[in-house]
Amino acid sequence: MAHIDTKNLGFDTKVIHAGGHHDPYGSATVPIYQTSTFAFDNAKQGADRFAGTTDGFIYTRLGNPTINALERQMAELEGGFAGIATSSGMGAVSTVYMALLDQGTHMVGTASVYGPSRLLAEKHLSRFGVESSWIDTTDLGHLRRAMRPTTRIVYTESVANPTMDVTDIRGAADIAHEHGALLVVDNTFCSPFLHRPFEFGADVILHSVTKFLNGHADVVGGIVVAKDEALYRKLRPMMTTLGCNMDPHQAYLVLRGLKTLSLRIERAQENAATIARWLEGRPQVEWVRYVGLPSHPQHDLARRQMSGFGAMIAFGLKGGLEAGRAVMDNVRLATLAVSLGGVETLIEHPASMTHAGMSREHREESGISDGLVRLSVGIESANDLIADLAQALGKI
Ligand SMILES: *Cc1c(COP(=O)(O)O)cnc(C)c1O
Repeated sequence: MAHIDTKNLGFDTKVIHAGGHHDPYGSATVPIYQTSTFAFDNAKQGADRFAGTTDGFIYTRLGNPTINALERQMAELEGGFAGIATSSGMGAVSTVYMALLDQGTHMVGTASVYGPSRLLAEKHLSRFGVESSWIDTTDLGHLRRAMRPTTRIVYTESVANPTMDVTDIRGAADIAHEHGALLVVDNTFCSPFLHRPFEFGADVILHSVTKFLNGHADVVGGIVVAKDEALYRKLRPMMTTLGCNMDPHQAYLVLRGLKTLSLRIERAQENAATIARWLEGRPQVEWVRYVGLPSHPQHDLARRQMSGFGAMIAFGLKGGLEAGRAVMDNVRLATLAVSLGGVETLIEHPASMTHAGMSREHREESGISDGLVRLSVGIESANDLIADLAQALGKI
């Protein structure tokens, strides 16, 4: 694929053409450079590459053409300086924390973030003298009060997991910057198709590419995108030293999945809107949280900072834990599985699955009740998904 300057082209064009590379054989797709190392022509070339005075690859942990193509594409889709692909979403979170936090510093995060992102700071970084506070960032007053002179990063998710809370990214960025801190946004639930946090003042974006970006439930991977060169120079060596690099084959699959990002999300969010409205009318359902419903507490904010409402729904069952189990055990079309963002609909129960590692107290504080069910809506026929949920709700 020839390199095309896509800077001024539409998002859907970037999804197909951004980050293309020059291939000596004119390959239409980015080849998989399945190699651990790269030969130098001579000693001087090797020395120059190590010194960084000439471009070129050295060793796959440090960089690889297939992985690089994905990094360039994601940087362009998010509108940042450069990307750093990682072995998993948690590899991206680890890279960001380790690069930006020092002993004696502090971070503030959204209470209901992806469980392990909170656990890594609270349980592990605390052993190295890093403190963290976890708060409801939908209220910027809470964020302002949680800031300390030692706060280095404010950490939030574009739509939080699994409460579907939306944080005002512009407002959070302003507070972080007033205190000399950086705003890091985990944009996994939205992808740049729905939300581009750099446009609202974020400094670092990360993703679990396992989810919407790859979209086919066949890869685990992550990426960090830095807004500017200075941040990139801090973040990249942390990833290569931690060793949580992506593999060329992973990168190839993600590049392939990414091409249909716009089509997949458009269809999935259309299904999600239909299902969310239908769920609101069910007698077994106590509440429905979908960013696209006017009943969502941050619906207006979402309308301002997102270009669509996505495919993630949370709903509460009147019967609590028991009702949750009955639905999980009776769905036939929706797959009972954690993860999200694939072409197939997945259903899960956070209190007994993804967020079971949190104490009940922390779960309740974070808005994760026992009856909360999370649905990642896929691109099947909406009628079939509704029929499946109807029969499962009927079993309660
Ligand atoms: C899945 C997920 C992660 C972790 O990603 P992995 O690829 O599983 O390591 C981080 N943040 C969010 C919001 C996620 O959904």
